[in-house]
Order: sequence, then structure tokens, then C-alpha cells
Amino acid sequence: MSLGWRDRLKDVGDEDILTRWDNTIRKSGLASRIYDTIAHLLLLYVDQNRILSLRRLLEKFFTLHHHIRTITRIAWSRRLSSFLKGQFNVVSVPAARSDISIKFSQQNVLPIIFPPGKPAELNVKITVYDDLLNRLQAKADKVEIDMKKGTVPELSMQVNVHAESTLLAYHLQHPQINPYHYFGGSKLSCHGCGTLFNSFNLVAESFGLPQFFTKGCHNKIYLQWPCPSLLSQEQWMRLRPADPSLDTHVRKGMIAVLSTELAAYVHELRVVAEGPSRPQSDSAAASGDSRESKTEGLERMKAMAECE
Ligand SMILES: [Zn+2]
Repeated sequence: MSLGWRDRLKDVGDEDILTRWDNTIRKSGLASRIYDTIAHLLLLYVDQNRILSLRRLLEKFFTLHHHIRTITRIAWSRRLSSFLKGQFNVVSVPAARSDISIKFSQQNVLPIIFPPGKPAELNVKITVYDDLLNRLQAKADKVEIDMKKGTVPELSMQVNVHAESTLLAYHLQHPQINPYHYFGGSKLSCHGCGTLFNSFNLVAESFGLPQFFTKGCHNKIYLQWPCPSLLSQEQWMRLRPADPSLDTHVRKGMIAVLSTELAAYVHELRVVAEGPSRPQSDSAAASGDSRESKTEGLERMKAMAECE
């Protein structure tokens, strides 16, 4: 890509050429048809829920070029070129499938969102429970996941474990391979993968394992996030009953972080439910995937790891 185009992609504001073209396309009333056609012509897969722009389409189009350029620069770099010396084996790591099956009955949900130390009036509990289910339903509708309705709403699906989590499990199950402990990807990790890696890295040393990293986390929550099994079936079978299990420890750390975040989220809904009158629309504080600050969650996870 010429430097000129790169500069155009980085331009921000209302006056740059891509924004002006976007505005013209949107005013035409044919935006989705025009963007779909461009995506089709450029052979790009575009997520249906994305709001498209010319900048996004061009960035997607030049992704391969960008990665090849990065590898070329590594090859020419005196400091980094050693990574490319020697021989590479290309190994295809099979996708790991997993089942997610959750029943959102009041009996299952209320003890989690209102733990014993946090009593609340029954009507407040039910209001918060209803709010949570409505938000879950809205999120499921947005990504076209069917929630089983009936007396107890239920989420049930078979999904693939995310790529970086699959790689983490694969390398832990194949310790004879000595990989570079950084998984490069074109996308940042989601909230689930980020929490899994943080939780794993906190206990890795105590299991004599190396830490693994990704390039960062965009913190978005996906309903289709299955937690992988980090140990293979054979590794599980070799464990003695008294042995600590890596999976158990990692999941415990994740639950500590996620429940702290959930508590902050429920608190916001509870404040609204207990308020003098319920607003017509969601307050800014109670909307979206509000989560506790990452630092606070990590502190709690570290404290739990230290208690082990
Ligand atoms: Zn992920």
C-alpha cells in the first residue's frame, strides 16, 4: 500500500475524503446495498452486525498486505530476524467444540446475583432478574442465538472454542512442542479469552508451566464463549485425586473475576430497581456491558491465587 493511502486511512475528522464519501453514501439511502456490493467485489467477509464504512472495508482489504509487510520488516530487522531463522513446521490445530447449556431459572440465577451477604427485597430481586434476562435476550437476538423460552429460559448451543484459547489448550496438552509464548493474531482477544489467559498466567508458575500472552484484549463479551479444557483426557486420568487440577484453579480464578464484575453490574440494576421511580429508558450507568474495572478484578484474582 502506498504511503498516501495509509495516510488516508489514518485521517480522522469530518473533512477527510473517506468520511466525506461515507456521508454521501449514507445520504443516498442505499448505504447497505453499496457497502455490501463493495464487500462482495473485494471478496471480503463482513459481519452482519457491523456498521460499515469505507475506512473499515479498506482496512480489511489491506489486512493481508499489512501482515506480509510486517513479516518482511521482521525479516530485514537485525534484532527480530532471528525469529525467522531455522525451519518452520506448519501444524493445523483442530478446532475444539464445546457445549454451552445454561438454564436461567430464578433458583439458579438469584443465589448468584444476590449472594447470602447481600439480602434484598423479593420484588427488587425479581426486577433485577427480569432486567438481566431482558438484556440477555436482547443480546441473544442481536447475534441471532435462539434462547429456548417456556417456563425456564435456556441457552443451549454447540460452539467452537476461540482461536487463542484453543492454542493455549493445545500447547498445554502437547508439552513436547516448545512454542514462542505469544500467540499472534489479527484481532484482539475477547473478554472471555482475556480473563482465561490472566487467570492461567497467575497460576502457571505453581504448575511449572510457562505463561502465554496475546497482543491484548478488546473486552467485548460474547455469548458463544465456551471455556476450554486445558488438560487432555489422558492428562486428567494421570492426576491423582489429591493433585490440584490446572483447570479447576484457572476456572476458580475466572469465577472470582467474573463474579466481581457481575456484582458491580447487578448493583447498578439494583440501584435502578430500588430507586423512587423507574426511568423510562435505561440510565447510562445501567446500560450495556458495564464491567468492574479490570484492575479491581485482577487484584481479586491475585488475592485468590495467593490464598491457594
Ligand atoms: Zn475470545
